[in-house]
Order: sequence, then structure tokens, then C-alpha cells
Amino acid sequence: MPSTKDSISLEDNFGAHNYHPLPVVLSKGDGVFVWDPEGNQFYDFLSAYSAVNQGHCHPKIIAALKAQAETLTLTSRAFYNDVLGPYEKFVTGYFGFDKVLPMNTGAEAVETAIKICRKWAYEKKGVPENEAKIIVCTNNFHGRTTTIISFSNDPDAQNNFGPFTPGFIKIEYNNLEQLSMALEDKSVAGMLVEPIQGEAGVMVPDSNYLQKARDLCHQNNALFIADEIQTGIARTGSLLAVCGDCSCEGHCERQPDHYVKPDLLILGKALSGGVYPVSAVLADADIMNVIKPGQHGSTFGGNPLACSVAIAALEVVQDEHLTSNARHLGEIFREKMHNLKEETGLITEVRGRGLLNAIEMDESAGSHTAWDICVRLKENGLLAKPTHGNIIRFAPPLVMTEEQLHECIEIISKTVREFV
Ligand SMILES: *Cc1c(COP(=O)(O)O)cnc(C)c1O
Repeated sequence: MPSTKDSISLEDNFGAHNYHPLPVVLSKGDGVFVWDPEGNQFYDFLSAYSAVNQGHCHPKIIAALKAQAETLTLTSRAFYNDVLGPYEKFVTGYFGFDKVLPMNTGAEAVETAIKICRKWAYEKKGVPENEAKIIVCTNNFHGRTTTIISFSNDPDAQNNFGPFTPGFIKIEYNNLEQLSMALEDKSVAGMLVEPIQGEAGVMVPDSNYLQKARDLCHQNNALFIADEIQTGIARTGSLLAVCGDCSCEGHCERQPDHYVKPDLLILGKALSGGVYPVSAVLADADIMNVIKPGQHGSTFGGNPLACSVAIAALEVVQDEHLTSNARHLGEIFREKMHNLKEETGLITEVRGRGLLNAIEMDESAGSHTAWDICVRLKENGLLAKPTHGNIIRFAPPLVMTEEQLHECIEIISKTVREFV
């Protein structure tokens, strides 16, 4: 097995340099822990960008993977397979939608939602051909395809990748006035939004924002599309971030003011517990049925292995009460981070919901503070990664215990104090 040094130099020499990783190599994972080749143990506070909500190598998910891998892995959608149907019934019931369209990566699911939304606009709303527009928010992150980066405002994501796909209107996040104005355009097909902006630095909107945004969309006959690839599946202390204060562990008959049901729901990441790429778009039949045979697809989308893994991953979320655990631990975490903010004066803001949290570092301490703290956290046994700007995101697996969380809070507090 290559050492940490060897692994890093191999990646440097033979891999494209499209990432700037923290200098740590991981060779094993179990629950909330990961290890490097030399046997050093770390708490994982990134969870692969919230893909590993169920913890690393969850035995139930791995068992499902193994059993299905030995039986049937891929048929393509040229034929039916005997896991896709049961999965579709399970996942639609779980989230409370009529229909699901299975894909693999998050970006593919976002592309799928964009295509469904446009098609709906032409065929149901009567928008003239090629004129459909989708409203998006500044500082969004929805993936890396050419169309998706067309509506990014991150120069790294965009520069020298043009020409871009037209048909997107950018408005400020958490700004209902701008949304209202943008919706006056009759060719608007929908609005695509992250219920909490993850990559932008865990930006939590005002508490009535999502509800009002969806209502404005509906008043103007436009679809409300929630990208819950990062926020969904228990991460924010509810099954979906659009569930607001409802902490039930599966689809329930929520009060309308507790649940902002989107017209299109986009899931990925933790849909497989980080075991395998599984993504999905969910919608009710009147919207999903605009897609007919031959109009969209994916060779691997809906394959038996993905379906088995996803069922197990979602069962774990319910069996282990991950929504209420995330909610409970999140409250403790933010309280302790607020204390650290008061104590050190190095932190300008603490924000988040459930176990998707961030601290923003004071710029006066230097623009590299977040990175430097993350390097030091690694030395102290905890892995986190800076997001855009001087911000550290903290998103451990949701299977963490309260005792482990307190140990992690100690590591973070001790590390931040070293920078005072
Ligand atoms: C990660 C992410 C994506 C893209 O998912 P990939 O699997 O990397 O393609 C899209 N939207 C959001 C909100 C994400 O966090």
C-alpha cells in the first residue's frame, strides 16, 4: 500500500490538477472515522460534501451492495430489471411524490430537472419555442456540466469554458423582491434553488424565504425546483431542508406551512450513503409525464446495484433516526461555536442547520486563516475543508454520538485558540 507521500506524488504526477486537496491521504473509513495509510485516525467533518451522511462503509449499505453485485449489476433501460420498480415505489413513497427519474451524479440530476422544466414550459405552460428561462441565484452551486456552469458566477467555474447555454436569469439569493420582478417575464419556466447554499458557505435564507419563493412561482405558473443534493436526506435536521421545522423521518402529511413541497426535487450524494453514485429527480405525474420514451436517459441510471444501495441507504436514515440526531447535535455544535466566537474574537459568524454548519473567519486575521486552521485541524485529528472565502464548513456523518461530538468540539476549540 503506498504511503501518504507516495499517494500524493502519484496524484500530482499522473492526475489532472482540478482539485486542491488538503494534504492527507485516506485509506480506510468506518462510521465517523477515516484513517491514513500510516494508521492515523481522523474525525471526518466533511462527509464527502454530505454524501456520507450514514457514515463510512455502513454495514447495512455495504451488505446490500455486495448481495446485489453478486446477482445483477447492469441491464440498461433497454430491459426492465427487478430492483428498479421496487426502488421507485419505495423512494417515491419515502419523499411523497408520484414519480422518480433515476440518474447517477448530482449534475446529471440537475440537468434532468432543467430539461423537464423546459419541456413542461413548452408543453403545459405554452412558452414559445426556445424561449423558456429558468431563474437561478447568485453564488449557486449545482454541478460542473457546461449548461450548469453557464449560470454560475464563480470565475474559476466559468473562465474559458464558454460559449455558455442561454436561458437563465440570475437573481440574488434570499431576495423575494428580485424574484417577484423576474417572474413578471411570461417565459419563465421555473426557479432552481438550493434551500441552503452549501458551497457558497452554508448560507441559510430567511425562515419564510422558501415558502414565499414557492408561492410566488406558483402564482406565476412557474415550477419551484429544489436542489437538495447537499441539504437533503437528514443533513439539516429534517428529511429535506424544505421540510423546515418538521423532523419526521420519512414522508408525512405535513402541515403546508411546515413543508414547502417543490415541484421538482433533486437528490444525490447521501441517496447512496456515499457508496455508489445515485441521483434522482422526483415530481408528481402531471410534470414528470412530459418526458416520453427516447427523450432522456442514462445507461447506468436506475441500475439494480444503485437501486439496492439507495433503498438500504434510505432505510438507515430512518432506522437510526438520523434527522433527530442531526437536529440535536447541530444545536449543541452551534452553541459551542458561538461560545468560541465570543471567547476568541476570530470568528465573525456561526451559521447552519442540523449538522450542516459553518464558521466564517475574521478577514483581519489573514485571508488564509480558514485553510491554515483546516491544516492544523488535520494535525489535531479532524478533517474539514474551507469553502469559498474564509469559511470552514463542518458536516460530520450523522451517525455521530453526542460524546464524539463533544470530543470534536474540543479539537476545534483548541485549534482555533492556537490562532488567537
Ligand atoms: C454536489 C452538488 C451538486 C453536484 O453533484 P455531483 O454529484 O458532484 O455532480 C449539485 N448541487 C449541489 C447543491 C451539490 O452540493
